[in-house]
Amino acid sequence: MRIDIITVLPQLLESPFQHSILKRAIDKGLVEVNLINLRDYSTHKQKSVDDYAFGGGAGMVMGIEPIANCIHALKAERNYDEVIYTSPDGEVLNQKMSNHLSTLNNMIILCGHYKGVDQRVRDHFITKEISIGDYVLSGGELAAAVISDSVIRLIPGAISDETSALTDSFQDNLLAPPVYTRPADYMGMKVPEILLSGHTANIENWRHEQSLERTKQRRPDLLK
Ligand code: SAH
Repeated sequence: MRIDIITVLPQLLESPFQHSILKRAIDKGLVEVNLINLRDYSTHKQKSVDDYAFGGGAGMVMGIEPIANCIHALKAERNYDEVIYTSPDGEVLNQKMSNHLSTLNNMIILCGHYKGVDQRVRDHFITKEISIGDYVLSGGELAAAVISDSVIRLIPGAISDETSALTDSFQDNLLAPPVYTRPADYMGMKVPEILLSGHTANIENWRHEQSLERTKQRRPDLLK
């Protein structure tokens, strides 16, 4: 998989890909992540990428020219399955969407800033708009990091224990069951007996029941 992230703040996105599962997936060659500085595609003297909004009002708007130049240059090199724009009015990211995105070969993620991008970019270049929740961020970079993280960890081989991602919350529309580790007894706070029994089938049943119970209590909407 290849993820090309178009941003005016590439430095903001360096760290998330330099640690843990994402770093290992990149080192293993499972995914290539490129941070593309939108300013490199600006023809403006000061490399600016934004301008005043037509019709007035507060806030700058990211212009179509540098974005179009950048996307054209990328598309000249390869085909893209999706050109994603991070936006609070997009479809809200969920595990089902991440699962789908993890099967793609190449995607672009465009990070907005200021008041967002010129609507013509969205109309003509963007194939999918994703929000990471009903709140407004200062820019699309953190959203791009969240989307990439949730997708990359699902690529087979990214997580060392292959089954681990499949038992996370939201796979099968259930929340994950509680987990425990040593010590089995911490000052009288005990781990459920069944987890120490070594009986795999019973443990699996217990975990499933706990998942169901937790989902009923916390997210009944998932069971509909
Ligand atoms: N004026 C816009 C918000 C702009 S916020 C509006 O009211 O809808 C600046 C940029 O941050 C956006 O262009 C988008 O790329 C990013 N962003 C903000 N909130 C986001 C969210 N919840 N999910 C994904 N991207 C978001």
